[in-house]
Amino acid sequence: MFGWNGRILHVNLNKEKAVADKYDSKIAKNFLGGRGFAAKILWDELKPGIDPLSPENRLVFAAGPLTGFALPSSGKMVVAAKSPLTWGYGDGNIGTYASVQMRKAGYDAVVIEGKAKNPMVSLIRNESADFFDAKDLWGLGTFETERRLAELYGRTAGVLCIGQAGENLVKYALIVSQEGRAGGRPGIGAVMGSKNLKAVVFIGSNELPAAHPKEMKDLGEEAYREVLAKPNYVFWKRQGTMSTIEWSQENSVLPTRNYREGVFEKASSIGGFVMEKMKVSNKGCPQCNMTCGNIVKDSDRKESELDYENVAMLGANIGLGNLKSVAALNRIADEYGLDTISLGNVLGFAMEASEKGLIKESIPWGKFKATKTLVSDIAYRKGYLGNLLADGVYSASQEIGNGSDRWAMHVKGLETSAYDCHTTPAMALAFGTCSIGAHHKDAWVISWEVKTGREGYTAEKVDKVIELQRIRGGIFECLTVCRFPWVELGFELEWYPKFLYAATGVEMSWETLNMIGDRVFNLIRSFWVREFGGKWSAEMDVPPARWFEEPLTKGPLKGKRLDRFKYDNMLKTYYQKRGWDERGIPTGSTLLKLGLEDVARELGGRVKISL
Ligand code: SF4
Repeated sequence: MFGWNGRILHVNLNKEKAVADKYDSKIAKNFLGGRGFAAKILWDELKPGIDPLSPENRLVFAAGPLTGFALPSSGKMVVAAKSPLTWGYGDGNIGTYASVQMRKAGYDAVVIEGKAKNPMVSLIRNESADFFDAKDLWGLGTFETERRLAELYGRTAGVLCIGQAGENLVKYALIVSQEGRAGGRPGIGAVMGSKNLKAVVFIGSNELPAAHPKEMKDLGEEAYREVLAKPNYVFWKRQGTMSTIEWSQENSVLPTRNYREGVFEKASSIGGFVMEKMKVSNKGCPQCNMTCGNIVKDSDRKESELDYENVAMLGANIGLGNLKSVAALNRIADEYGLDTISLGNVLGFAMEASEKGLIKESIPWGKFKATKTLVSDIAYRKGYLGNLLADGVYSASQEIGNGSDRWAMHVKGLETSAYDCHTTPAMALAFGTCSIGAHHKDAWVISWEVKTGREGYTAEKVDKVIELQRIRGGIFECLTVCRFPWVELGFELEWYPKFLYAATGVEMSWETLNMIGDRVFNLIRSFWVREFGGKWSAEMDVPPARWFEEPLTKGPLKGKRLDRFKYDNMLKTYYQKRGWDERGIPTGSTLLKLGLEDVARELGGRVKISL
């Protein structure tokens, strides 16, 4: 095979052993890599019903066939496991040198099982895997952990590590690399912590096998030039995703005070233009010339990397209008290894619960010091509230009751990311049907929806959500390339089959690629259904009740809310177009059409599936 290494490393922490397995070229062509490989591995290797924090869970790191080549924004990898937050499929992507080094060490994916007796670091190099005691690292934050490992293994080593949140099994702990590049929102860092695995270090030196090396070099150079020439490039380098704060405010979709509102009175203090004045440098993922990480000095005079999601969730959603303080919360979260989206969501929930007198602790909106202390309590699971919030917003609402489930903002247990959907049915559908819970990554349909008209619950909107789920959630996640060149600069989709051909020698049309996107999407859906069995229903795909029940009370769209009846009809249309039954379960013929016969057989043994 070209492009793919053709090998997956299986690591057993109990035995401190690693075995490299070859895999069939059919797997490569059917699932591409990244999310496709992760979903296939988790489907094949996990017994349904296992505890996600048990040694039986698998922690998967998977790159795509373009990773490691000099191609724009291609230095990503997917980290995946059965999620302790949702008990369904969980993953996230990280732009990190670890992805490049893993591929250069000769592996397309690494699968970790078991549990180390004591805290451990695993070092993966060409043809070898070693295991070292990590007692002196346990208890440290992610930045310090990485600094110490860089002293030992050099600055070019690829490091994936967890902070105190992963060690303490906070259910939205993630994995961090390069001081702030992070992924695995649904608790993939907690899975790593449950295995006593503090860090994995990758060092590789093999040449990656390109099918057409000369074409690859020329294409890469041309593509980088094309990115640089895009009209929005200069502004993107100035603000990255931060300009979305102003955009969301203008369009009443900026999540504010636990998504009660879509406008924040201090939005102009936390937006892209204020950030520009504080900015000290740009940071980015490997192989990327768009470097969208905005580095600013925070209120503790330390460096923090800002983007739209972390500022919206740790700013507007908790009523905090000082960007330096927001940056400090963001940096602390990165050091602890806490997902900033879920964190801002649970903090907003706690502040509302405090305001309503449902918890005895006083956590006022927008108070920096009290919030900072609470973030630390969550990372260490300290006290009643820290421990309660460490399990996520769904669990917290079940515990405090009193109707709080109506304003616990999540889908399938994963906290909603930073878009208020009182007025955007298509974005609500995207959250409702996303493959990991309420995340925007698979189908960020909101900008299209606001531009083309947000009122309707139309079939066209359903088509758009599915189209984006195929491209963003499917192909980009399987190739493990960043979506921003396409989304933000208009870098054309036609480049990607050319990249794939130069790397692998395999020609694939977009029609074939879309089919792969659908295959992976249906496999992940089947994983969820296999886990939930008879408890699975269409209710799993419904966004939070607040968006249906409580109209906006501020801003130009005051009085607006989603319509549940119309949403349900739109969901039914979505299921029909997907080839799923009325419960949202893929039919036998859909799975067969996608070449998932084995999945159809096994799923049919667990729940009744239609033909
Ligand atoms: S655009 Fe930003 S997120 Fe995407 S690869 Fe580049 S630096 Fe990473």
